[in-house]
Amino acid sequence: MENSTILPAISIVIPAYNEEGGIVPSLKDVYEIMDSSSLTHEIIVVNDGSTDKTAEIAAGVKGVKVIDLPENRGYGAALKAGIRSAKYDVIVITDADGTYPANRIPDLVESLGNYDMVVGARIGKNVTIPNVRKPAKWALRVLSAYLAGRPIPDLNSGLRVMRKDLVMRFEHLLPAGFSFTTTITLASLCTQSLVKYVPIDYHARIGDSKIKATHAFDFLLLIIRTIVYFNPLKIFLPMGGAFFLLGISKFAYDLTIGNFSETALLGFITAVLLWCVGLLSDQIAKIALRPKV
Ligand code: UDP
Ligand code: MG
Repeated sequence: MENSTILPAISIVIPAYNEEGGIVPSLKDVYEIMDSSSLTHEIIVVNDGSTDKTAEIAAGVKGVKVIDLPENRGYGAALKAGIRSAKYDVIVITDADGTYPANRIPDLVESLGNYDMVVGARIGKNVTIPNVRKPAKWALRVLSAYLAGRPIPDLNSGLRVMRKDLVMRFEHLLPAGFSFTTTITLASLCTQSLVKYVPIDYHARIGDSKIKATHAFDFLLLIIRTIVYFNPLKIFLPMGGAFFLLGISKFAYDLTIGNFSETALLGFITAVLLWCVGLLSDQIAKIALRPKV
């Protein structure tokens, strides 16, 4: 690789739950591309309590370190277990299902430079995302972008390069389930960490996805909770504003009929209370997020 800057050594963490069909081609792709690159690296597969042959298959692959979780703990928990045991300071995550292009790992790592995270955004030329997922994905992405205050080309891509200390900084917030990637994205953007998006392709999956449609609600709740944690005013100011508008509209109407109603007053009081709660949460967030010296 022609590059005058020194590239970091990387730990590639691959969570796998019942992926006996996808694990071999996925690992082969990663292994081959890393073997032909000059990057110092290790490959860690976290077998997340699989009940099929995933564990045995992974253990048989040369050059791969396997961490065996005794029971199924979830995507985020598997990633955290792998990242905790990583020996290098830069982490790459990908899936064990043949979806993410492993051949992009070296150039994503090269893009890291002084960034804290480089996300492979699934907006390349060849992207296969199941149609049923598209509306929910779009809505969550638009909401998150408003709340985070910047465009988010891909909210929860599972192919990304992250500094280990970025993950460790937010470890207590990162959930055991699928929202790991959404949370680290929002946490990074809300704390002005440097995040870069690089377009990648995304292929159809080998085997069944482990994600369920009901997870969309969990994602919505998670987005709201994460934003309240980092930037509560983004939620409480507009909420208070909505009640204020209701109050003022009712008040305007009341003026025309010459009778000031309790409903208008209730609108104003609710608005003030919501704004006060917002300001209080803002103080708490500032204290919680103060840099450690
Ligand atoms: N996975 C895991 N534990 C789980 C669920 C999933 O380790 O409880 C792994 C899974 O094997 C895959 C990755 O996490 O390698 C992402 O899951 P999946 O591909 O099903 O999610 P999607 O990419 O469809 O959102
Ligand atoms: Mg996947």
